[in-house]
Parts: sequence; structure tokens; C-alpha cells
Amino acid sequence: MTTSGDDLVVLRPQGLYCPAGDFYIDPWRPVDRAVVTHAHADHARAGHRALLAQVDSLGVLRERLGPRQPLQGLRYGETLTQRGVTISLHPAGHVLGSAQVRLEHAGRVWVASGDYFVSGAGDEGNATCEPFEPVRCDTFITESTFALPIYRWAAQAELNAQINRWWSACAADGAHALLMGYSFGKAQRLLAALDPSIGPILVHPTVDRINRAYRAAGVALPPYRVFDGQGPVAPGLRGAMLVAPPNVRGNGWAQGLGEVRHAFASGWMQVRNRRQRMGMDRGFVVSDHADWPGLTRAIADTGASRVIVTHGYEDTLVRWLREQGLQAGTFRTAYGDGPGDEEPVLADEAATAGRSTDREPRGTTAAVGDADAEQPTFDIRGDSDT
Ligand SMILES: [Zn+2]
Ligand SMILES: [Zn+2]
Repeated sequence: MTTSGDDLVVLRPQGLYCPAGDFYIDPWRPVDRAVVTHAHADHARAGHRALLAQVDSLGVLRERLGPRQPLQGLRYGETLTQRGVTISLHPAGHVLGSAQVRLEHAGRVWVASGDYFVSGAGDEGNATCEPFEPVRCDTFITESTFALPIYRWAAQAELNAQINRWWSACAADGAHALLMGYSFGKAQRLLAALDPSIGPILVHPTVDRINRAYRAAGVALPPYRVFDGQGPVAPGLRGAMLVAPPNVRGNGWAQGLGEVRHAFASGWMQVRNRRQRMGMDRGFVVSDHADWPGLTRAIADTGASRVIVTHGYEDTLVRWLREQGLQAGTFRTAYGDGPGDEEPVLADEAATAGRSTDREPRGTTAAVGDADAEQPTFDIRGDSDT
């Protein structure tokens, strides 16, 4: 889109850049100063010399980016001033610690959403993180992962009932239920949905590592045992629920457990035939992104007159926004390229969305914390500054 020299955020090869404050938001290349909206791998990459994120996301960032990445935390609603730009973070409802970034400078207010969850069903949906908070602004940078009118999510209570009914039916048949969802965010939301009175809960070690960060942040999860997929399970164990990341499919995980039924939880399950093509017994339409009514309501609630759309169905949303009389355009970002949270799971979808199907985490890149160089930081001045 056409940008003006006054824009608080512009697109650069490294990512979304704030010229006035000299920092990036969710950059995909190593930079001096990064504000990171959440710890999903396509938004949070290692190698930045300073990285600012919401305090509840620091545990997962540390787990994923390694011990050498400098991290700096900011609470929701707390402000920090960077070269005259006031930065604050506000709940995005997506995963633990996910934040919208609010920037204020010289009378202008911009908000960059990162990924966010707002459901047209009108409930708060995700019990494992702070719900999305509408933030008033002049310009809103929004994601568009599910920005097609076909995407409409059911209320969380209904989703929970669907999942527990399926588990009960598996258990009644003497089968285990293997429920697959992305290890950070989705798996915890699924665990929080479960009724532990139905049977034992087992989780994959990758899910357990993320769960620890959730519990450390005070999020309640049901009791479970960690299952590495190899060892023997308790004799006579029947009707267990196993929660694991999607990549356990085809690698023999949970083989030897007896009869196991497979389900996948993703917003993409709303698309007809998806479940069958993935060879799943069940599909649950559970997403940590906004559905179409959620996106359009969230955008309206910001009061923004200008909207910049990133990763997803940008063109559909831009067209719709222009029909509503708003100024709208796109930033072509690298989000969704690599192991994101709800990237397309089938190769043809990846082609449609212009995304990579590479699911392997990328290695950490540049050296961080180089002792020879002065370490940049964000200059915390606190609330009194504004
Ligand atoms: Zn995400
Ligand atoms: Zn994203």
C-alpha cells in the first residue's frame, strides 16, 4: 500500500518497522530491537539483540529461542518510551502472553495485532489466556488467517461438549482418544476443555514443556501424565485421552497402545473433506484466530479509519474494508512461513495461501549478546512518562 513519511509502521525487508522509535515488530530477520507479539515460531525468531515481549510469554520464548536470546518483559497496559514512541501491550486472546502492540507518537496511535482471537459466537473462548481487548487507534494492522465469511466458530462451551462426547464414546468402546493440536496454545486450550472424570489424560513431552510455562503463569490445567509414546502404559489402562502435536502422525507414536482413534483440532477443520483427506476419525473446529465475524467486529471496535492487513486472506478482507468506506491495504509479511500455529496442513492449501509447509523449527541464527558490542535495550521509563 502507499505509505507516507509520517507512518508509524512501515514494511522493511526485516519486518514491520517503526522509523520514529527505531524498532521492529515481529521481525523475520535478526534486528537490534524487536517487539514480539507472541511466541509462535513465525512471529518470534531468535537472533535479535534486544527483544521485548509480554511477561507471560517469556517462559515459552526462553524455551523456544534458547538461553542466549536477551529477553525483556512488559506487562499488559504498562508503557515504555522508545525514542519518543510510547509502546504498550494489550491482550490479543490468541495464546499465553499474546499481545497487540500499541504505538503512540506525535498524536498518532497505531495498533499492530499480531495474531488474535475474537469469536463471532461472542464468548471469550480461550480460557488459557487473557481475552482480546479492543484498543482504539487511527491505524490498525490486522492479521487475516481466517478472513473468509465461511469461517465462523462455535462457542467454547459447545466445542468442549463435542470433544468430551467424542472422548466418552471412544472410552465406551475401549479405545484411546488421540487429539492432535499445535503444541503451543492449541494443546493447552484442548487440555482445559477436557472433563478429567471421563478417564486418564496423557500428554506428549513437547506439550508438557509448554504446559509448564502456562502453569508458571497461573493457568489451570487438568492433571495428566507425560507419555513419551514408547514405554508401556499402565496395565489395563483404557479410554485415555492423549494430547499431542500433529507431527506424531505417521511416526509411530502411541503405537502399541491398542485401539487409538485420531482427531485433529484446527480452524481448517471447517473446510469440507479436510478431516477425511487427513485420515482423521474426527475433526474439531477449534482455532486461536478470529473468525470472520470476530475479525470484522474487532476492526470496527478499534475505530480505525485505516487498516493494514497481513498474513492470510488479505485481498478478501481489504476488499470488504474498502466497501465499508475504510482506507485499507496490505503488508506482505513472512508470517505463516514455517512452523506457525495454524499454517495449512496439506500441500495444496499451502500453495493456495502462498506458504511453506516446512514444519521443522529453524535453528537460531545470529549470535546474540556479543560481548564486544554495546547491548541495545528498550529504555524503560514507566507509566509516569505518559
Ligand atoms: Zn500465532
Ligand atoms: Zn500469525
